[in-house]
Amino acid sequence: MLPDTVLTVLRRLNGAGFAAYAVGGCVRDTLLGKTPVDWDLTTAARPEQVMALFPGHSIPTGLQHGTVTVRSHGQSFEVTTFRADGVYSDHRHPDEVTFSTELSEDLQRRDFTVNAMAMDAAGEITDLFGGRGDLRNGVIRAVGDPDRRFGEDALRILRGLRFAAVLGFAVEENTAAAIRAKAHTLQNIAAERITAEMTKLLCGPDACRVLLDFPDVIGVFLPEVLPAVGFDQRNVHHIYDVWGHTAHAVGAAVSDPVVRWTMLFHDLGKPNCFTVDETGTGHFYGHGKVSLAIAREAMSRLKFSNEHRDAIAALVDWHDRVIPVTPKAMRRCLNALGQEGTARLIAVKRADNLAQSPAYRDRQKQLDEAEEIVAELLARDACFSLKQLAVNGADMMALGLHGPAVGRMLRALLEQVLSEQLPNDRDALLQWAKENR
Ligand code: ATP
Ligand code: MG
Repeated sequence: MLPDTVLTVLRRLNGAGFAAYAVGGCVRDTLLGKTPVDWDLTTAARPEQVMALFPGHSIPTGLQHGTVTVRSHGQSFEVTTFRADGVYSDHRHPDEVTFSTELSEDLQRRDFTVNAMAMDAAGEITDLFGGRGDLRNGVIRAVGDPDRRFGEDALRILRGLRFAAVLGFAVEENTAAAIRAKAHTLQNIAAERITAEMTKLLCGPDACRVLLDFPDVIGVFLPEVLPAVGFDQRNVHHIYDVWGHTAHAVGAAVSDPVVRWTMLFHDLGKPNCFTVDETGTGHFYGHGKVSLAIAREAMSRLKFSNEHRDAIAALVDWHDRVIPVTPKAMRRCLNALGQEGTARLIAVKRADNLAQSPAYRDRQKQLDEAEEIVAELLARDACFSLKQLAVNGADMMALGLHGPAVGRMLRALLEQVLSEQLPNDRDALLQWAKENR
């Protein structure tokens, strides 16, 4: 049942007289028939005893939590001594952890029943809280009293929603009630940890349902979503309110963190831009820029990486621009957003459209065409950036230009190529530069 690499580590611990198990997410994923990303092991052996059993192959990575990283056959395993967590006074960390000799204590401190199972070297499962049944029935249920468990560590609130979105599971009623009641304590959690969990949640196959069911929880760290909830769009393009559209757009998008965050942000500016015309139809002129400002503010508060922040901001800004399905327009996109950004913009527009009224789904065909045009441009190595231009700075200097005039001329040449006034041909570009210097 367990892979040989894991068995080797467990058997060495067992051979020295210590109980040892695979535990948590890797057992859950194994029972679901998925290949676990990493294997966490738990044992009665103390950290120094684990180190002694794997001399030269163990690193004391988190000794205060009882964790030793063991290398075996080129793989790393986190081996953690059975632990019982003490009191949590800050909603984040236990004040102290004590090592235990009982597997049951270690399982009790874990967050959800589906994450609280252990598997021994014989493939025998220890399941004290009905985790197997919850896995079968698709249920996220806190281990023990949910109010107390979320009170100890507020991150569990968002982890619960994350597992619901990723596994497609329902949140058990008492667990859901405690999640709602304790949601405000998420304020105690570091922005980076919130963002990491929320990114996984958004990328889950069932993100749409979780967003629809728990906007108030999301609203604790992203209050910008709250005005969207229940906001009637009064427009034939739409069948959902702004939040409903947002959630469906997230769910309809490819499972890429940048695209999914873009969908979450893309229309949050709408409530601020709402107007109704004489026919009673709602409009949201300029909402792209307002959504962009909201997204920037939220992403800086939530400590996004610069890379994600810039990529998401560009897509929120561009999501609502009308882009003709022509080589010229697609080349402009490639110039402004790059190859990856352009592919993502098409993905954003696809998801946005899929979350609108079914009467307007024909847009998908245009997006297929846009994709084909981009593929053709790339296949024939069409020029859309300065570095692809058939002339360079040295060529401009040879024409007698220097200083800022060099860059200005190169940009002017690129502009000629982008607007299809000139081919990306060295002689043609040099000729034009001579005439226009
Ligand atoms: P993933 O697939 O994201 O790795 P995972 O369940 O393995 O999911 P980890 O964050 O790797 O999640 O944690 C490993 C295990 O540690 C969990 O399965 C759970 O048993 C326990 N755990 C992790 N975080 C908490 C927490 N905040 N409170 C209680 N138990 C936790
Ligand atoms: Mg894990």
